[in-house]
Amino acid sequence: MDFEVPEKIKVITSMIDEFVDKELIPLEPEFLTHDFRSMVPVLEEKRKMVKQMELWAPNHPKEYGGMGLNLVEHAFVSESLGRTPIGHYVFGCQAPDAGNAEILYLHGTEEQKEKYLRPLIEGKIRSCFSMTEVDMPGSNPVMMNTTAVKDGDDYVINGHKWYTSSSDGAAFAIVMAVTNPDAPKYLQASMIIVPCDTPGFNQVRTIPVMGEPGTDYAGHGEILYQSCRVPQKNLLGPEGQGFVIAQQRLGPGRIHHCMRWLGICRRSFDLMCKRAQERIMTPDGKTLATKQIIQAWIAESAADILAARLMTISTAWKIEKLGVKEARQDISLIKFYVANVMQKVVDRALQVYGGMGMTDDIIIPFFYRHERAARIYDGADEVHKMSVSRRILREYEGREVK
Ligand SMILES: Cc1cc2nc3c(=O)[nH]c(=O)nc-3n(C[C@H](O)[C@H](O)[C@H](O)COP(=O)(O)OP(=O)(O)OC[C@H]3O[C@@H](n4cnc5c(N)ncnc54)[C@H](O)[C@@H]3O)c2cc1C
Repeated sequence: MDFEVPEKIKVITSMIDEFVDKELIPLEPEFLTHDFRSMVPVLEEKRKMVKQMELWAPNHPKEYGGMGLNLVEHAFVSESLGRTPIGHYVFGCQAPDAGNAEILYLHGTEEQKEKYLRPLIEGKIRSCFSMTEVDMPGSNPVMMNTTAVKDGDDYVINGHKWYTSSSDGAAFAIVMAVTNPDAPKYLQASMIIVPCDTPGFNQVRTIPVMGEPGTDYAGHGEILYQSCRVPQKNLLGPEGQGFVIAQQRLGPGRIHHCMRWLGICRRSFDLMCKRAQERIMTPDGKTLATKQIIQAWIAESAADILAARLMTISTAWKIEKLGVKEARQDISLIKFYVANVMQKVVDRALQVYGGMGMTDDIIIPFFYRHERAARIYDGADEVHKMSVSRRILREYEGREVK
């Protein structure tokens, strides 16, 4: 395996790092004290600059206006963007749109691609993904109450979802609903595209999460589907294949999160080291960096981040070479491993800042609050650990070990 970062990617990431430093990090004080909606106009200006630099939509296909980077290349780009919470949004590769674009690309009809995928990748509209339900365990999504029943040429959808991230102001949702209740459980649900202005698509609220009310792109919607009627041609992929397509979406989706979390690790690590060097702790000028325990945190964080980065890149490489199915175990491993590395690194950085680490004068507490969810969404830690260990133990059945 070649560990050399390709020249093209070195150039792109150095441009992105410079842009993040000059154009985006200076916006963070405003970002931390205002709701997302009020930030949209200034972020739109930055998006225009990114498009002019031809760095827009790095992970999306060239035929739709993206840069067409492969997953390994995108890992480096995403780490650079993840240094700031607004990076992915400004470069047009943010969740949940990135995952929705992937499944529209793979399974959408030509009409669906022109109507939804093209404007989505161009950044003209936003989308959301509506699977998790209030009253059902998201960890076992085959338990689903939302139904889509055929009526004439339409589906009529009823159900109660929440954590439909970015629903506020989105143009459409990709909704998981039971269409074939009599089929085997993994073949009961389908994905259906629902424009958010359809009567019966009712956003009850954006859920307050860790002190953030959440608006626009940053809002997590609670949605009541009440006799919400859409044409049957809005079915995405074959009927009954919702869980199969969801797996295709969640695999790359999980690694995209890991790539972004590496950026959060890098930023938190940089801030921790700088603070340790600058914070004078004694009258004779000794800094926090002279304390052994802080040195240990720095060394341990450096090792943790390197391990997380190598695991993520090797998983990206495996997905590229062998496909999502073959890389399933690696995806589960990085999903819980990188999430926990990120939490550890952010926590150490916060601790090094002391009282300031609790204030919104710096970015670290935002990461601390916002990214706690990393161990829950797209499969809780426990679910991934269970599925990895099951698969490993299966390999030992009937095997002689000396
Ligand atoms: C910030 C955020 C954004 C999200 N965005 C979206 C989105 O855009 N679209 C969407 O559809 N959903 C989204 N979700 C929902 C998310 O995918 C679910 O919260 C997740 O799947 C867990 O489901 P649950 O909340 O119902 O928890 P449950 O399934 O009730 O699980 C609760 C806890 O039980 C434990 N547990 C679960 N299974 C096992 C097991 N087998 N063994 C041991 N312990 C176990 C875990 O610790 C888990 O955290 C989001 C969630 C968050 C927090």
